[in-house]
Amino acid sequence: LSMEKEELLAGCQDIFSSSERAFYILNDVDTRFEDVKDAKGNVLPLTSGSYVDYLESADETLRKSAFENMYAAYGKVQNTMASLLNSQCKMLKYESDLRGYPTSLEASTNKNGVPSSVYKNLIKQVHKDIAPLHKYMKVRKKALKKDKLNMYDLYVPLVKEFDKKITFETAKKEALASVALLGQEYVEAYEKGLNSRWIDVYENEGKRSGAYSCGVPCHPFVLLNHTDTLRSEFTLAHEMGHAMHSYMSFKHQPFINSDYKIFVAEVASTCNEALLMHYLLERTTDKKERAYLINYLLEQYRGTMYRQAMLAEFEMLINEEVAKNNTLSAELLNKINHDLNAFYYGEDVIVDAPIDLEWAKIPHLYMNFYLYQYATSFCASMAISQKLLKGNPEDIENYLNFLKGGCSKSPIDLLKMAGVDMTSPQPIHDAICQFDKLVDEFDELINCK
Ligand SMILES: [Zn+2]
Repeated sequence: LSMEKEELLAGCQDIFSSSERAFYILNDVDTRFEDVKDAKGNVLPLTSGSYVDYLESADETLRKSAFENMYAAYGKVQNTMASLLNSQCKMLKYESDLRGYPTSLEASTNKNGVPSSVYKNLIKQVHKDIAPLHKYMKVRKKALKKDKLNMYDLYVPLVKEFDKKITFETAKKEALASVALLGQEYVEAYEKGLNSRWIDVYENEGKRSGAYSCGVPCHPFVLLNHTDTLRSEFTLAHEMGHAMHSYMSFKHQPFINSDYKIFVAEVASTCNEALLMHYLLERTTDKKERAYLINYLLEQYRGTMYRQAMLAEFEMLINEEVAKNNTLSAELLNKINHDLNAFYYGEDVIVDAPIDLEWAKIPHLYMNFYLYQYATSFCASMAISQKLLKGNPEDIENYLNFLKGGCSKSPIDLLKMAGVDMTSPQPIHDAICQFDKLVDEFDELINCK
């Protein structure tokens, strides 16, 4: 745009982010949840953090109570939340119109060097390939011995009996061994990272929750809250995937090109998770452990691919409504989300009314078409890890060059270097085919135990 227009726009950025800021205040500070009750009548506090734990509990009373109380709180603020989301989408539309883009979606993906067709391909392909998710829901329903699944039954692990303690030392050893095929430079730096305090490992008073990696020129840093679980082991593999990506990019690119874009970031991390999964599956002889691992992987598919694709579709649809000059009322947002849940989960899942409100608690809806990248990265990393496991030196070299690439090329071109073309729906379809096979294997494993 002209200097004057850019200046005007730049001056508005603080005002443009007011919906997002108000969302965070309302979501994190002003929204209070009622305590929940478990099957024994114990009263427990409900927070955004404990919600996930409760939904994974084998206690159905606790799950239902957490689900209902969580959304009851959002029900009370839904009109305010809808108004904030409406303003956010209008702001995107205004800026995209001003810059001459046909849609807000086009403007946002273009900013990261990704054609909007990648976004639309994802949704189209997931629609075509929805049957395996429905099949997984049938298997889940059978495993939980229910006539129909409720929305609060989607997160419960299906292989409860298996619970192995994995110390940080074991997690380190296995995560390192799982990337051996990436060659000396990668393995040596990885090992050095594990043993020279790149990582802050355990939970501590005043330490933030979750996990992340931060790339800086000296060496990357990783924050974990390791708890001796399989999830923690995968988190280590995931964050070290990010850390090594940063390490390789900083080492091989000039500073200006060293910071990779989000579209490729989650490829490096989930690819390492896939390699670890392969390593663990290869070594287990215990059927129950195998079922437990596959269940974990199936949940990654459901959570990272299908669910994020569904949220991305929601984001696309609501922005289309705004483009038609419609106002995003809570009623309209609830209806769009309800219909999506019904389509994605199929006839074996009851779309309980509270889930309609899920949009009200998703901060990513203020991050301008961000969510789809979880699903695309996941599919890309599945394709790449399959290639790497075949052990062809050329494929491994290509992948290492991708990791060394930083942001020296567009994300699409970098991924093409690694051997996957995300402008085609093929990687999405291939990932779903793999999911389909895993659902069958899992079904067999839990039926013949
Ligand atoms: Zn990540």
